[in-house]
This record gives sequence, C-alpha cells and structure tokens, in this order.
Amino acid sequence: MKNDKIKKAGKIAKEAKEYAKSFIKKDMPLLEIAEKIENKIMELGGKMAFPTNLSINEIAAHYTPTYNDETKAHGLLKVDLGVHIDGWTADTAFSIDLENSEENKKLIEASKKALDNAIKKAKENIRTSEIGKAISETIESYGFSPIINLSGHEMKQYELHAGITIPNFDDNKNTIITKGLYAIEPFASTGNGKIHDGKLSEIYMVINSKNVRSPIAREMLDFILEEYQTLPFCSRWLVKKFGTKALIGLSQLTQNENLHRFSQLVESNDAKVSQAENTILIDEKEVIITTE
Ligand code: MN
Ligand code: MN
Repeated sequence: MKNDKIKKAGKIAKEAKEYAKSFIKKDMPLLEIAEKIENKIMELGGKMAFPTNLSINEIAAHYTPTYNDETKAHGLLKVDLGVHIDGWTADTAFSIDLENSEENKKLIEASKKALDNAIKKAKENIRTSEIGKAISETIESYGFSPIINLSGHEMKQYELHAGITIPNFDDNKNTIITKGLYAIEPFASTGNGKIHDGKLSEIYMVINSKNVRSPIAREMLDFILEEYQTLPFCSRWLVKKFGTKALIGLSQLTQNENLHRFSQLVESNDAKVSQAENTILIDEKEVIITTE
C-alpha cells in the first residue's frame, strides 16, 4: 500500500520531468514553467511535495517564482520538482543549458554521471560515505567540485528531509543505509564547493501551529496545515487562494514563528552549479529508482 503510493508519486514525478524537458526554452518566464509543471502534476493525480524550484546559474536551489515573477529562463537552469501521494514523496531534479555553453553541458554531465554512480552504490547496509565518495570522485574527474554542504536525504511520510543524510563527498562517517526512501542529489560547481544563504526565497514551511492574533493569518494557517501539513509551500500558491493579502498573512505568520521562510542557496563565489536528483526505494531485495 505504502510502496504503491511511493511508486505512483515517482511515476508522476518522472512524467512531469519529461514534460518539463519537452517545453522549457530560453526566455520562457519562470512563472509559466512552474505553473505548467505543477498543473501537470495535479492533472496526473499527484500533489506537489514542494514548490517547483527553478534556480539559475549560481543559485543552487530554493528559487521559486513569486506570483508576479518576470524572470525569464536563461543560463544553467536547475528544475527540481516534488510529488506526493498521501505524504509519500518523490523528489527529482535535472539541469538544462539554455546558452549552448560547453562548460554548462560539462557541468550538467558531471552531476548526472555522479548521480548514476551513486545509485549504483546504493543498497541496504552500505555506508553513506561510500555513496558520497562515488559522487565526489565522479565530479572531480570532470575538473569540478561537488557542493559539500548540500546533501541527499531520507524521506518519510510528510517529511521531505528525515533521518539519514547522504553526503556529496566522503565524510568518513559510519552511517549505514537502512531500508527506506531516499533522494540522492549531487551538485557540481565550477567554484569551491560551498553554498551559503542568499536572499529570502518564496518557500515556507510550518514549524509551529500556535495561535496567531491576525484573523487572515489564522485562516491561512488553518488552510496551510490542512493542505500542506509539514511539507514546504510557496507564496504563489497562497496568493492564488487568498489574493495578495496573503503576502501580509505570510509575513505575520513568519513573525509569529509559525512559519520558517527558506533562503535561496547560492554558491559562495557566485560560480555556476548543476544538479541531478532521483528518488530511490531500498528494501531487502532490491533498489528501485522511483523517478526514472
Ligand atoms: Mn529536490
Ligand atoms: Mn531533495
């Protein structure tokens, strides 16, 4: 039952990813790209596990368009999308070069190959550091650096980042992979392999359901708890539901510490970053890539 939901979420994520690859072109508004992907996910019977991340060049992750975003697709674009069925998630990402740049293409190949090599290693009882080693060795063989302060992660019901993390380098730890659901996500960069917090993103998550005085904020919090539970969501979705007064509600909820507002994750030297990600289900017999 649970595994059927995991597989269904994976299949929808795969289809949404293939669809995204078929229509994304340079200069297309990011807002349009995000909405097409998210509409496709819902049309296929899934729900979003998080807002579609559309991060360009040195932004490694956590950029999702505002409700009135005018940014156009360009550069090295990372598309990271998530689907859930009753809280069972699929998390997958790919990168696309919109500049016909040899360096971008090589960066994209490096993270993709690192993902393939990492998945080959992944099985029950292996050390997560061995997966990390496969990732860093692959990316370094292309002359790039893995981002070491981003990592893959275990996923549980309505919990996108749970339990075990999977490093993008050999961290020398003895953490052992157990049966479960994991996202593996190598990032390759022309920089020194670190990201830091950039500008605030439009992505939020509930951290506390305590009471809030403002009636609109209260109404929004009830909606968020019902609709997204503990999964991330974005301002765009709430503007769609409540109009632009949602922006005031979000800032009240953040101030009252009901919500955490994520930051964009930016490469430390503003160097370009590529990403590849798939979700795998590990049980005693086999490893299934759910998003491919
Ligand atoms: Mn992801
Ligand atoms: Mn992930």
